[in-house]
Amino acid sequence: MANFKALVLDQDRLFPADPTVRAIARRLYAGIKDLPIVSPHGHTDPSWFASNANFDNATSLLLLPDHYVFRMLYSQGISLESLGIRTKDGTPVETDYRKIFHTFAQNYHLFRGTPSRIWLDSVFHDVFGLEYGLSSETADLYYDSINEQLVKPEFKPRALLDKFNIELIATTEGAVNSLKHHAALKGTGYEKRVITTFRPDDVIDADRADFLSNIKKLAEQTGQDTHSWQGYLQALRIRRQFFRDHGATATDHGHPTAKTANLSADEASKLFQLCLSGKASKEQTELFRGQMLTEMAGMSIEDGMTMQIHPGAFRNHNPSIFERFGADKGADIPSPTEFVSNLKPLLDKYGNNAALKIILFTLDETTYARELAPLAGHYPSLKLGPAWWFHDSPEGMLRFRHQVTETAGFYNTVGFNDDTRAFLSIPARHDVARRIDCRFLAGLVAEHRLNEDEAHELAQQLTYQLVKQAYQLD
Ligand SMILES: [Zn+2]
Repeated sequence: MANFKALVLDQDRLFPADPTVRAIARRLYAGIKDLPIVSPHGHTDPSWFASNANFDNATSLLLLPDHYVFRMLYSQGISLESLGIRTKDGTPVETDYRKIFHTFAQNYHLFRGTPSRIWLDSVFHDVFGLEYGLSSETADLYYDSINEQLVKPEFKPRALLDKFNIELIATTEGAVNSLKHHAALKGTGYEKRVITTFRPDDVIDADRADFLSNIKKLAEQTGQDTHSWQGYLQALRIRRQFFRDHGATATDHGHPTAKTANLSADEASKLFQLCLSGKASKEQTELFRGQMLTEMAGMSIEDGMTMQIHPGAFRNHNPSIFERFGADKGADIPSPTEFVSNLKPLLDKYGNNAALKIILFTLDETTYARELAPLAGHYPSLKLGPAWWFHDSPEGMLRFRHQVTETAGFYNTVGFNDDTRAFLSIPARHDVARRIDCRFLAGLVAEHRLNEDEAHELAQQLTYQLVKQAYQLD
């Protein structure tokens, strides 16, 4: 093993190099590193926690679900078939999981400088106790060691919730999901720890191929006439309550843009009928999504659910990948997003209501200082979600804090979201956010813009209290 490179996670990683600021960052971090993880937005599979079955193997757990990983490999000419990504059209794919792990290991250098490298190394070191860096030479050692550990009882999903100190984790489900896995958790003691989130894009986005079948399903689930505007709205109210009965405290809306609308009931009803007819234009389905954001805000005032808006992803940008492999294959690309005019109809109607909690996210960093911080720094209903997706990275988090804090302050932000389906990386992702917040706060302290006792308090709040307040988790 002499020529294997040691895998070392430096205790000062991600802290500033300046010794004065670094010393402050260390002190701040010491005060928060062991706080419980609250994960209010993410995409883990609730069946893991319901069945509590052991995970299969290193490849199917760490690689196959992680589009951050295979998009990078794909960008360097490695086919998704060779990585074992299942096809929709029946094209055969690699099924030798050890071979796939080798391909990944051989190409691990591609992740140098990326957050995936930080997350993965943390998983290897902290979760699996691996002592050498991943490379072609260590691929078998890794694959065997990880698989040997995955069959143990302490690697079952619920045991990992304890090991990771996860106080709460929210999954995300479509409006017509049966929530059977959350239902199965009832009575296990985990039902308050693993909760769902109401994501109604499947019954709001008339551009989706399954829109009409979902509207039909919505009728079956609620007993409402979902082909009438009022019946459809009532059905959504019923489903929101159903999700609340399975722990949901928040909704999530992943629209192409931040467009909102405030149509009369008559206009909205006509637009809905047009969407149902399949004859709506792109502009009309966009207007309908916009109207529905405003309707959802109204329902959030009725039932108290926090509303998350995640706009601006150009989904499935690569049509040949979409045709062969489907969605969520690393082919979503950020596009410019406008908030000031687009949110105005919703804000005109509900923006002054302090009981309404809307959390805005963006993939367009140019909006942080120009649009989002001024909006959240004024409207009582608006808060800013953390740096998201492509910006969930040390530099992305720093850019977020640098650009929004002076106008929105810290208290119009809501702490960290890991937004991940890579369950084992959750502690590492939260640790990166904690370290970067401490780094940013340490800079303010070193420049005498903040007292250190205030910075300690803020570090705690950004890690824990603000998250629970924003998502109403108390
Ligand atoms: Zn998400």
